[in-house]
Amino acid sequence: MQPLPERGALLSETNPEAVYDVAVLGGGPAGYTAAIRGAEYGLKVALIDASPKLGGTCLHVGCIPTKALLFNAELWDYLKDAEEYGLNFGEGAKLTLDWAAVQKRKSAIITKHVKGLEFLMKKHKIAVIPGYARLTGAIKDGVHTVDVDASGAKSQVKAKNVILATGSQAKLLPGLAADDRILTNIEILALEQVPKSLVVIGAGAVGVEFASIFRSFGTEVTILEFLPRLVPPEDGEISKELARVFRKRGIETNTGARVEKVEKTADGVKVSYTDASGKAQVKEAEKVLVAVGRAPQTEEMGIEKTRVELDRGFVKVNEWQETAEPGVYAIGDIVAGLPQLAHVGAMSGMVAMAKIAGRTFRPVRRDRIPNCTYTDPQIGSAGLTEAQAKEKGHEVKVGKFPFAGNSKATIVGSHDGFVKIVSDAKFGEILGVHIIGPQATELIAEAVAVMELEGTVEHLMFTIHAHPTLSEAMLDAYGAVEGMAINA
Ligand code: NAD
Repeated sequence: MQPLPERGALLSETNPEAVYDVAVLGGGPAGYTAAIRGAEYGLKVALIDASPKLGGTCLHVGCIPTKALLFNAELWDYLKDAEEYGLNFGEGAKLTLDWAAVQKRKSAIITKHVKGLEFLMKKHKIAVIPGYARLTGAIKDGVHTVDVDASGAKSQVKAKNVILATGSQAKLLPGLAADDRILTNIEILALEQVPKSLVVIGAGAVGVEFASIFRSFGTEVTILEFLPRLVPPEDGEISKELARVFRKRGIETNTGARVEKVEKTADGVKVSYTDASGKAQVKEAEKVLVAVGRAPQTEEMGIEKTRVELDRGFVKVNEWQETAEPGVYAIGDIVAGLPQLAHVGAMSGMVAMAKIAGRTFRPVRRDRIPNCTYTDPQIGSAGLTEAQAKEKGHEVKVGKFPFAGNSKATIVGSHDGFVKIVSDAKFGEILGVHIIGPQATELIAEAVAVMELEGTVEHLMFTIHAHPTLSEAMLDAYGAVEGMAINA
């Protein structure tokens, strides 16, 4: 075999016969994390993405811009109550929202991180190849060949291994197309003005996060969720508390609602639905957000020419992220049975790369994934819900502690919500942790680490948590499992 050029040089340019160790298809958080980890293992990596800017949905139209807007919303909500905190704007001065500046800040954050990724690719000497990639068929003599089409300029990349990381896109209801009134996560992030009214179809993470953001900015928000509760995968008590706080914030929540039709009116939209009691209802609004899930992007990429198996469009993999085609792995939103979360995508990429590099690793465990929903109030959860634990036959012991009893929660003016621990009665194994309230998305990290290390309720009851912090609510919740919370 001919010697390989330095990492970072485009092998296909310098030597068409050269072969990368790994070609990663897709530059979102799953793909770019895998690429960096591969380079850290000393592998020659190519990262192919159809977009000239790396980062995928997460960076451009997902996690990062949404959380930027949520931070604005949080600040705005605090400032609305400025006087309560002893802050005055002065005689006659009024707090106003400069939406264009909010959008500008959001875009600046994205640009900064795109540059950060470009820096990381250079630092790790990863060959970034712009273009749309397609598999050409099964592995031949230990090498895969990938066709790359960069706006008509065609080339081929050869690699011993291929990682598919092509992500997902928002599903729309039948007959609908996204535009300036019928919105998905993409269009809603680019609105030029805060809408007066918004109907949100679907109360998963996307739906409730945008409902929360736009309610903070004054929009009349109506949620229509097909299932009987908001954030259906969460513990039932979390859904109930979110609905209570959302209603308190003036968000109309309709669960058990079946959307029949979405039509455009002269200047807005009209959504017809059947409510939980079977009654036909109509809701008119300026905009409608369709947030009914995301479909995997696995079409038009040559999968049918390989042995890779699909399940309703999702790629089937084993615990090492390997598909049925030798040397082809799948990670991130396209994987069957994995939640579509950026951090799960990233970790599945690290698992795949470790397997390719022959290093030690542990597969992604579904029961140790932090689920974070960045609403007000925030939700952070991991492991089994109380109902799931009971279904699995555990004798369950639950501890619950309200943020109303936590001194830091009083200081930050955020008393809604609670921490709920689901444990196994026999040995105190922590089966699930469910938090709704201030900084829940940060607090859940402790729970995941403890579950990963197989800590017990007793360990946690004797783990010192700093005072005054929100994390003390965790300590009290562990105590509550034994009926011994200090502050409630
Ligand atoms: P989702 O699948 O999480 O939720 C969609 C919701 O829409 C479900 O509750 C479903 O019952 C409901 N629904 C489906 N069809 C409906 C209909 N016709 N009428 C009314 N309700 C209907 O999907 P999502 O919220 O679009 O999110 C997509 C993916 O992205 C998810 O995997 C989600 O976890 C992920 N995501 C995560 C975060 C986060 O972690 N903070 C943020 C955004 C997206």
